[in-house]
Amino acid sequence: MIIVMKAGTATADRDAVLKQIEELGYKPHLIHGTTRDVIGAIGDERGKLILHSIEAMHGVESVLPILKPYKLASREVNRETTRIRVSDTVVIGGDEIIVMAGPCSVESEAQIMESAIAVKAAGAQVLRGGAFKPRTSPYSFQGMEEEGLKLLARARDLTGLPVVTEVINPETAELVAEYADILQIGARNSQNFALLKKVGQLKRPVLLKRGMAMTIQEFLMSAEYILSEGNQQVILCERGIRTFETATRNTLDLSAIPVLRGMTHLPVIADPSHGTGNHHYVAPMAYAAVAAGADGLMIEVHPDPEHASSDGPQSLKPSSFTALMAKLRLFAEAADRRL
Ligand code: PEP
Ligand code: MN
Repeated sequence: MIIVMKAGTATADRDAVLKQIEELGYKPHLIHGTTRDVIGAIGDERGKLILHSIEAMHGVESVLPILKPYKLASREVNRETTRIRVSDTVVIGGDEIIVMAGPCSVESEAQIMESAIAVKAAGAQVLRGGAFKPRTSPYSFQGMEEEGLKLLARARDLTGLPVVTEVINPETAELVAEYADILQIGARNSQNFALLKKVGQLKRPVLLKRGMAMTIQEFLMSAEYILSEGNQQVILCERGIRTFETATRNTLDLSAIPVLRGMTHLPVIADPSHGTGNHHYVAPMAYAAVAAGADGLMIEVHPDPEHASSDGPQSLKPSSFTALMAKLRLFAEAADRRL
C-alpha cells in the first residue's frame, strides 16, 4: 500500500504514521518527494483493510494499493522522477544529462589519471573505471582490485569527479563503498539477490545494469531488492540485451527507456558502449538514448583503446569522446534537457 501524506505535514504526524504502519506489521519506507512525502507499506497485501485505518490519521491524504509486483520502484509511489544526489554538483534524474565516462578497467595510475583529465575536460560529470572485473573467462584480466579503488580515489582528488565502480560480490561490497561514490551492479550480477540485498544496506547510490536476458519487469524486481533493504538511491542502466543479432555485441534496447519512464520513478541511463560493442556505434546510440529520454549515459573512454586490458573495441579515444560530447549538447537541448 502507499500512504500519500499531505503537503507540509508536520514531522510528528508523519512519524506517528510510520509507527502505526510498523505496529500493524508492515515495513514502512519513507520516500521524500519535492512537494510531499509518500510512505510505502510493504507486507501482506491481504491485510490491506487494516492499513486503510491509517486514512483517518493526521496528515494522511490517501491510502492506495500498489497493484504492480514491484512496489517501491513503481511510478505509483512517486509521480516525479527521483533525483539522486551523487555529490554537491551531480544530481541524476534532474534536468541535466549526466555522463559517466572512463575506461572499462583501471589499469595503471597513468591510464586512469589521463582518462579522468580527458573525460572531465570533455564535460563528463562522473568517472567510471572497473577495479573488480566480472570477466566471462577466468583467464582474462580480473582487475586491480583494492589498488584500483585507490587509484580511482586519487583520480577523484585530482579532478573532483565522483567515481562509479563495480561491486562483484557481497564480501567486497563494503570495501568498494569506502572508495566509490556510486556502486555499479553489472549485467552478470543483476539477479545476484544476495549482492542486491547487500548494496541495499549500504549508504551509496547504486547503478543497476540490466541483465542480458532480463525482461523489464525482472529488471524492476531487482531494483526492488535494493529499495526494500532501505536504499532508495537506485539508478537503472539499459546496457543491451542478447538477441539473435550478431552484428553488434548486444542489442541496445532503447525502447526500454520510455517503457521504464512510465513504469518507475527511478532515473534511467543508457550504456551505448556495452550496448553495441563497437566504438563506431557509440555516438549515434548515445544521441538516440538522450532523444529517447535517458537521464544520462555511461561511455567507455580509453587513452589507448588498442592496448586496453578489456573492452578496447568499444572504447572511444578522448578526441572522439570530446566530439561526441559537443554534439550531445544539441540533442540534450532538443530533448529539453541540458548537459
Ligand atoms: C562494465 O561496465 O565494464 C561492465 C562489465 O558492464 P556490463 O555489466 O554491462 O557488462
Ligand atoms: Mn566494459
